[in-house]
This record gives sequence, structure tokens and C-alpha cells, in this order.
Amino acid sequence: MSNQQGLLVGGDTSRTAQQVQAALERFFIMNEEYNKVICIGEGCRKAIKAHAVQRHLQRRHSVGGVLSKRIADLIGEEVGWRWRPSNKRLPVNGLGPQKGLEVFMRFQCRFCNELPARTVEEVEHHLYEMHRETEGHTWDEVPVQSWGGEGTYECWVVDERKCSGSKAITEVIQEAAPAEKDAVEEAAPAEKDAVDDAAAEEDTAREMDLKKIPDDVTEE
Ligand SMILES: [Zn+2]
Ligand SMILES: [Zn+2]
Repeated sequence: MSNQQGLLVGGDTSRTAQQVQAALERFFIMNEEYNKVICIGEGCRKAIKAHAVQRHLQRRHSVGGVLSKRIADLIGEEVGWRWRPSNKRLPVNGLGPQKGLEVFMRFQCRFCNELPARTVEEVEHHLYEMHRETEGHTWDEVPVQSWGGEGTYECWVVDERKCSGSKAITEVIQEAAPAEKDAVEEAAPAEKDAVDDAAAEEDTAREMDLKKIPDDVTEE
């Protein structure tokens, strides 16, 4: 990091706000609906905590100190001053994918709303334990997303034929009012279910996490 930092310091004072904005958009998608900053840098495609942006850029993507700080400041402003706090934790099942996040496959029980399992063995174990099912193919392979990427237990099922709800930071600024109106209309019918599902999934996830690898790796 020290080399690159040195190289960037000299030129950085002339870097315009637009250039910093462009650099930000190369790395991040701002998902205001869920208050998530999603890194789309190589090998990431997962949510990063807003206060960890600078460190993340330096460590994972070798972005110099000055540029990474300016990007982090911009994100901090957006998140801290413009975003309204969101109490939505996980998208409900069946929405279009959240922009920027990886989509991967998991295995879902056909008899209940248990979070999709990571492996066939896991879902078959669940089918036996919970439903005494030992025969037949009573699970589905489903596309899912997770805020923390594939290593995270907690996930939701996505419908890849639908488009996602999140917008790039500039689009949001330019069309703030109409975009918000649309988002509310789309979300309204599913709102109550969303709350119920999220609560149920949260409990399951917490139980499972006791036995599994903690998922905080993802948002460092
Ligand atoms: Zn990243
Ligand atoms: Zn089940």
C-alpha cells in the first residue's frame, strides 16, 4: 500500500469530484433500500460496512490512501446525511437480484421456509430431521443472494428474470423523488410478509450460526 499511496498523493489534489465519483462507481453500488454499500471490485460482490470502506479499498483492491479516503468520505456523506435509515434486513424471497451482489445456488426444502441449505447433504439431512423424508427429490436448487457472499449462511431466493431495485449513487441523486415513489409502490404489497419472513429467518440463522463459521468475515 505504501508505494501506491506515494504515487497517488502527488496527483490527487487535481482529482476532480467527478473523478472520485467515477472511481467510487467502479467499486461500489449504493443500495439505499437496505442501507448497504456493495463492493463490486474484483472477487467481492458483497456488502461492506460504510466505515470500513477506506481500509477495504486499500487492502483488497490496492487503492491508494488518498483516493480511498476521498471515496470513503463521499460514501460516508451519502450514508450519514442523505440515506434514510432502513429497518429492512433481508430482501424477501422471489424479488429480482440486488444489483452488484453475487448470485449462487443453494438447496431449498419443498415442505417449509427453512433457509436454503448449502449442500445437497445438508438439505437431505434437514428433510430427514424435520419431515422424516428419506425418499424422493423433495428439494429444489434455487438461485440465492446474500449480503456477505457465498460464505454466508443467511440468504434469500432471487428471481433472475426480474430486475433489481438498487440504483447507482448518481442515478439516485438525479431522480431522487420519482425513484423513491416507485420503490414504495413496488414494495408495499409484500411489506408485511417481508417482516415476518425476515424475523423467522433471523432466528434460524442465529441458531445455525452458533455451529457455523461466523459470517462477519463478509462485512469487514
Ligand atoms: Zn471489494
Ligand atoms: Zn423443511
